[in-house]
Amino acid sequence: MNNNHSDALVVGAGLAGLVAAAELADAGKTVTLVDQEGGNSLGGQAHWSLGGLFLVDSPEQRRMRIKDSAELALQDWLGSAGFDRAEDHWPRKTAEAFVEFAAGEMRAWLHGQGMRWFPVVGWAERGGSTATGHGNSVPRFHITWGTGPGVVAPFERRVRDHMDKGRITLKTRHRVSRVLTTDGRVTGVAGEVLAPSTVARGERSSRDVTGDFELRAGAVLVTSGGIGGNHDLVREYWPRDRLGEPPASMVSGVPHHVDGRMIAITREAGAAVINSDRMWHYTEGLKNWNPIWPNHGIRIIPGPSSMWFDANGRRLPAPCLPGYDTLATLKEILRSGHDYSWFVLDQSIIEKEFALSGSEQNPDMTSGQWKEVLKSRLGKGAPPPVEAFKRHGEDFVVADDLKTLVDGMNRLTGEHRIDYQRLHAELAARDRQMDNPYAKDAQITAIHGARHYLGDKLFRAAKPHKMLDPAHGPLIAVRLHILTRKTLGGLHTNVDGQVLGTDGQPVPGLYAAGEVAGFGGGGYHGYNALEGTFLGGCIFSGRNAGRHAATVI
Ligand SMILES: Cc1cc2nc3c(=O)[nH]c(=O)nc-3n(C[C@H](O)[C@H](O)[C@H](O)COP(=O)(O)OP(=O)(O)OC[C@H]3O[C@@H](n4cnc5c(N)ncnc54)[C@H](O)[C@@H]3O)c2cc1C
Repeated sequence: MNNNHSDALVVGAGLAGLVAAAELADAGKTVTLVDQEGGNSLGGQAHWSLGGLFLVDSPEQRRMRIKDSAELALQDWLGSAGFDRAEDHWPRKTAEAFVEFAAGEMRAWLHGQGMRWFPVVGWAERGGSTATGHGNSVPRFHITWGTGPGVVAPFERRVRDHMDKGRITLKTRHRVSRVLTTDGRVTGVAGEVLAPSTVARGERSSRDVTGDFELRAGAVLVTSGGIGGNHDLVREYWPRDRLGEPPASMVSGVPHHVDGRMIAITREAGAAVINSDRMWHYTEGLKNWNPIWPNHGIRIIPGPSSMWFDANGRRLPAPCLPGYDTLATLKEILRSGHDYSWFVLDQSIIEKEFALSGSEQNPDMTSGQWKEVLKSRLGKGAPPPVEAFKRHGEDFVVADDLKTLVDGMNRLTGEHRIDYQRLHAELAARDRQMDNPYAKDAQITAIHGARHYLGDKLFRAAKPHKMLDPAHGPLIAVRLHILTRKTLGGLHTNVDGQVLGTDGQPVPGLYAAGEVAGFGGGGYHGYNALEGTFLGGCIFSGRNAGRHAATVI
């Protein structure tokens, strides 16, 4: 490989880029892998992730007595996606192919590369409406041992092995600003060399330019991630027709490098961009008391028991229950005219039900050591990172009685929107539903339902109890922000990762994978995600793009 020419160029060394580069190099191709961040940032967002993967009919599910199938998973996927646009042809085809992969080869392929999963399968996005609507009918969220770093490790290992052999060249602090074409074919990229960076992984690095570069290749694969770290772009593409005006304030669930620049740059080279208005932002964001990146937010992954109120103290209706329907809940919260909402819960619920998303918030599982997991999860109190948020987080109010709690909530926002009598009436009415093992309240029914699943009963759903009973105190209120995370639309591709132009034909020499391509196809989730499908989509689309490009270079 001469310094400026390789068989393939991969733009972005996140998970999708690592997978694509490893596949290309395995096929004997020379690869230049460029990233705007420093060498300590390999793996991109996936490093920070919880490492949850959507797998179907896995041994882990079977051991937990979960009956799953490709047919049920596809029913759930299509019910969630709601594909309804002409340009949804490839997103849908990619979704169908992914579900087949997730129910087939995926686990064995990853297992063969050394990945293992936590034995208790999580039940994310339960939907809460009808069998043909949104949500996972069964638990499918498989947390990888070692969390995000455990997902990155096998692909980083493969890339580094190829670097040692001289097949892959890594160029860090190289920011791509142009995709180059020759006679209608993509033949390279150009951009700026950024000043060396000494910041820790995840921290905002400088954009000081020290020079220019130009690189040529037989194919260019764009794997540059989504737009979640760029709130201006999030606001520009916000689906006002479906969700109303974007929130005035949001926290960032992704590092600063998730800037979305490459989408417009790739469009300039002839790529079509579709489904830009489809996004996946969370409604349970906390301001990180110990931030790494700017405006750093952490998502609570809640169990089913916290009561959910909007900024005015109005209880959210089903299916807007914790962990059920992210998009419906976002819409409901914004309908209040405010950009935050409240969880009201108690100590028994926080101990069993609060999990925080992110590898650094789960040091026990990230360590991959059983001893650490048992100490953290079965010890007294909530896991230490949750307790730390309760102690230091600016969004938490803790009180022994409801009156004091309400005073604290109103003090925190300075808005005095929460009325004690009204909140008390809601909690008392809810508590009365606890006298029988069945109820009319959809949330209480959901709690009983969850506890029929062994994994929830053991780890995720608190024993049904009355929240006004001081034995379960103190009471806790948590102010929840909107947290930006995933981009569901993006560069339009076919299942092989070839980028399509506005005429629907492949742009010669151009591929895309991972979040920049809506995780495959230009948006294989449609409107709603089933969770664990983002890392899975990066792996699937990175593999497909790398393998296909290798056959044509
Ligand atoms: C805290 C957290 C928890 C998560 N948990 C889960 C989970 O449990 N399960 C799940 O499925 N998903 C999860 N996700 C989502 C998932 O991690 C991401 O969607 C996925 O890792 C995106 O990978 P990517 O390779 O497409 O992009 P990225 O990881 O964003 O990588 C893109 C890379 O491209 C580089 N780049 C961008 N533009 C340029 C340019 N112009 N020039 C050069 N380089 C450029 C960036 O610096 C970056 O390194 C989580 C995400 C976060 C942040």
